[in-house]
Amino acid sequence: MRLETAAVHAGRTVGPPDWAISPHIVLSTTFERGEDGGYPGGHQYSRGSNPNRLALEECLRQLEGGDEAFCFGSGMAAIQAIFQTLKPGDHVVMPDQFYWALRGLADDVLSRWQIGFSWVDMQDLSAVERAIQPTTRIIWTETPSNPQLKITDLEAVSNIALKHGLLSVCDNTWPTPLLQQPIELGCDVVMHSTTKYLGGHSDVLGGALVVKDNVNFRTSLRQVQSLCGGVPSPFECWLTLRGIESLPARMRVCCENTRLLASWLSNQPAVAKIHFPGLPSHPHFDTAARQMRDFGGMLSFEMETEAKARHVANACKLIKQATSLGGTHTLIEHRASVEGTKSTTPNTLLRLSVGQEHPADLMEDLHQAILSA
Ligand SMILES: *Cc1c(COP(=O)(O)O)cnc(C)c1O
Repeated sequence: MRLETAAVHAGRTVGPPDWAISPHIVLSTTFERGEDGGYPGGHQYSRGSNPNRLALEECLRQLEGGDEAFCFGSGMAAIQAIFQTLKPGDHVVMPDQFYWALRGLADDVLSRWQIGFSWVDMQDLSAVERAIQPTTRIIWTETPSNPQLKITDLEAVSNIALKHGLLSVCDNTWPTPLLQQPIELGCDVVMHSTTKYLGGHSDVLGGALVVKDNVNFRTSLRQVQSLCGGVPSPFECWLTLRGIESLPARMRVCCENTRLLASWLSNQPAVAKIHFPGLPSHPHFDTAARQMRDFGGMLSFEMETEAKARHVANACKLIKQATSLGGTHTLIEHRASVEGTKSTTPNTLLRLSVGQEHPADLMEDLHQAILSA
């Protein structure tokens, strides 16, 4: 099945007793045991497995081309599950630009478990090599990165991980499997916040991991998922799977709208800088063009001053000022003020998650906001 078909069909079966096209939501937490002690329906207890979660996991597994998928109640729970397979003293090489909550997780939670982190510029491959210590277990990547859309060469970083016997993980939330397939590029683990594009409508939290090979790591993850219990509910799995059905169509619109907005913004004299990997002026345009099918629905741009940036975010009318991304509504956000005091994001920067609206309406709204700044 091609990706567009898998988005609609993978993990779903239509059959008895009622041949429903849209899957049922199975709320039962427990399942009857057979005379032989087995579980004829394939499920025992919903924390371990459930038909709706299984369907979502199978769909994500196929979309990412992995061997096993694991769903969680949020993207952060999926990330935490990876770190819960480590032991005190282990070390992780992290990018210097990443989804911001990771900083809090590392500094405020995982430091208590003696997990060490180094934050490096992933665009400098020799810096990645230099950051590897005898205790390093994981190299973490996020590309395009939040919020300045830096591009990491996934094939090159996966090769470094392979050479040193480390696990390479890619947060693939922003591009989605439709635009970028990290496993094909050599990564061992793909991570998703399904809250964003996969769910696609800003109405359901979720996270997922898709793993290639790595039988021992998969066993550990299965233990963490079922014993720590950070699992999504059947309804959340159902909503996410429904969102995935329209992912290919939504991504086409997102990419088209974002491309138009990026080139329009780069012609606005009041805009000081634009960060979008689909512009040939982007420093890693070639890497992005090589490893992505299209450039995605996220961009950020900078005004001359913080005051002007904050004015633009406040003056947008159609475009809502809110955090998060990947939904049908276009959202704008002043990232530095959300990230707080440790943030390295320029305070002149605004991040845009481009939605499904007509691009002319989005441009008109941005135009009046920028002109009044
Ligand atoms: C939102 C997000 C996360 C965290 O996911 P939650 O579902 O909010 O817990 C992780 N990585 C990226 C890139 C994200 O955008």
